[in-house]
Amino acid sequence: MDGNGACKQCPREMETIHVLRDCRVSRDIWNLLRSDLQDTFFFSLPLRERLKENAYESKDGYWKTLFVVTCWRIWTRRCRVVFNEDVDEEKDVGLLRNIRLTTMIVVSALSGAGGLIRAADGKWLMGFQACLGFCSNNVAKMQALRLGLLLAWGLGFRDVQCSVDSKVVVDLIADADQRFNPHGNLIEDVRASIRI
Ligand SMILES: [Zn+2]
Repeated sequence: MDGNGACKQCPREMETIHVLRDCRVSRDIWNLLRSDLQDTFFFSLPLRERLKENAYESKDGYWKTLFVVTCWRIWTRRCRVVFNEDVDEEKDVGLLRNIRLTTMIVVSALSGAGGLIRAADGKWLMGFQACLGFCSNNVAKMQALRLGLLLAWGLGFRDVQCSVDSKVVVDLIADADQRFNPHGNLIEDVRASIRI
């Protein structure tokens, strides 16, 4: 928004609904994602009803996610324009790809694990990440712990402290009976990594 309250992406007055629905840029993005939207009330619903109908009440899980991700990307694109970052049509092609990819990852519930290794003085030494496919958040956190420990041992560190932001995972590793837990092998792997 400039000093007169006008949209910086097109010559219209600026409102949230303008950025998310009426702006030429957002209309182009919505129409490229779904060409059938022109035949619905999508471009006429007020902001609250539009969010309610698409983000909460839609029975189509893929569309619900695509809608929310697209709103977020359109809003952050508008923020980049306002703060004079370089945004152009070519980058919008990347934006569409990013919206579809993010939606697919969220809908398919693909999981990843990651972490970082720091020296005793807090200095960053290395980071790591891995794609895990389909698994729960607790499994992802245990896999991250296991990967981090294996990397630390491989780098020759023997005095290692771990930080995990999940009490559930800490309790599983400390107390779970791995014989009766569906992730018993992984829990035992983490314990073995700690004992190395
Ligand atoms: Zn506009």
